[in-house]
Amino acid sequence: MMIDGRRGGLEAIRKRTPRYDVRMSDSIFSKIIRGEIPAQRVYEDDAVIAIMDINPLAEGHCLVIPKEPAETMADLSDAAAAAVGRVLPRIVRAVQKVTGVGACHVLQNNGPEAGQEVMHVHFHVIPKPQGGGLSAAWNPMTVEPERIADTGRKIARLV
Ligand code: 5GP
Repeated sequence: MMIDGRRGGLEAIRKRTPRYDVRMSDSIFSKIIRGEIPAQRVYEDDAVIAIMDINPLAEGHCLVIPKEPAETMADLSDAAAAAVGRVLPRIVRAVQKVTGVGACHVLQNNGPEAGQEVMHVHFHVIPKPQGGGLSAAWNPMTVEPERIADTGRKIARLV
C-alpha cells in the first residue's frame, strides 16, 4: 500500500480514507518521507519511517512517523495506526540498547495547544536518563468517581 502521497497525492488519500473530515498535511515530515530534505533514518517500511530528532531532549531521541500525512491522531487511519504500533516497541528496544537508558517516554502531541509543532502525526521516543530528558508537570485533578464514569460511558459509545 502506498500511503505517503507520492502516488495520487493528498486528494487521492482523502478519497480512500474512511472518514470525511480528515486533515492531511504536507509538512516537513512529508518532505523527509519523500527524500526532499535529509534526515538520519533509523527505520523505514512502506507505511512508517523513524528518524533521529534534530533537537533531541536526550541522546537517542527518535521520531516514529506514519507515512500517511494525517495531521493528528484523530485523522489517522486504522491501517496507518497499526503500522506505527507494530514498529514502536522495536524502536524503543533499540534506543534503550544503544543509549543504555532503560526508562523512556513515548509521547505524541496533538494540536498546537498540546505542544504539536509539526502537523503530521509522530511519536517521540525520548530516553529518560537520570536528571535529563523530558520534564513535564503532571497535575492530577480531583474528580467525582461518578463524573469519571459518566465521561467514560460517553467516550465508550463513540469508539
Ligand atoms: P512536536 O512538537 O510537533 O511534537 O515535535 C516536533 C519534533 O520534530 C521536535 O522534537 C523537533 O525537534 C523535530 N523536528 C522538527 N523539524 C525537524 C526536521 O527537519 N528534522 C528532524 N529530524 N526533526 C525535526
